[in-house]
Amino acid sequence: MSDAASRLAEIRRRVADAEAAAGRPAGSVRLIAVSKLFNSDAVRPLIDAGHREFGENRVQEAVRKWPPLKEAYPDLRLHLIGPLQSNKTADAVRLFDAIHSLDRDRIAAAIAAEAAKQGRRPDLLVQVNTGGEPQKAGVAPEEAALFVERCRIAHGLVIDGLMAIPPVDEPPGPHFALLAKLADKAGLRRLSMGMSGDFELAIAFGATDIRVGEAILGPRPAAGRHG
Ligand SMILES: *Cc1c(COP(=O)(O)O)cnc(C)c1O
Repeated sequence: MSDAASRLAEIRRRVADAEAAAGRPAGSVRLIAVSKLFNSDAVRPLIDAGHREFGENRVQEAVRKWPPLKEAYPDLRLHLIGPLQSNKTADAVRLFDAIHSLDRDRIAAAIAAEAAKQGRRPDLLVQVNTGGEPQKAGVAPEEAALFVERCRIAHGLVIDGLMAIPPVDEPPGPHFALLAKLADKAGLRRLSMGMSGDFELAIAFGATDIRVGEAILGPRPAAGRHG
């Protein structure tokens, strides 16, 4: 077994333990292996081990990396977990099975137009900036419910859940709790939260989608050497 495959097996065990500890059904958490900056050779052992859910944070990088793999493995599911610009929306709707970073009307409108044109509808999650960080993407917590409504009514989109990236320098628990509360109020079932360092806590707070990179793939290569 490769290092990545054995780390994947260990993370799957920890996810199963966290599901059980939270009294949640086995298999209720979707484990997304975040492969940004890793090349195809690095992700192949995970695919060989049967893993099918992968996350990328840049559309351009994903467009270079994933089309041949998706053709070879049609059941692969790709998640966009980073910012989406409107000029990349066509590529994003074509390649991704879920977009976790919807946070602006302009992008909602562009996704709706592309989804109609391509006859393809990725799952959609609205990103919430739970920490109110000025440099971070996402709608403000107090605007989340209204934005979800606008996506539904003004743009005709089905919204599946919410996503958040808590501030790095704060305990994540209160952010996970806030996101769960906002999702509950909006009647949304999916919660994308939890990364390598805190996915078990996120599962305790109800995460349905966890995004785990380095704990599976090891230290990320520096930007600029991928491709
Ligand atoms: C990179 C990234 C992750 C994974 O981070 P790790 O610490 O490697 O687990 C999760 N979510 C988002 C949005 C990311 O950009």
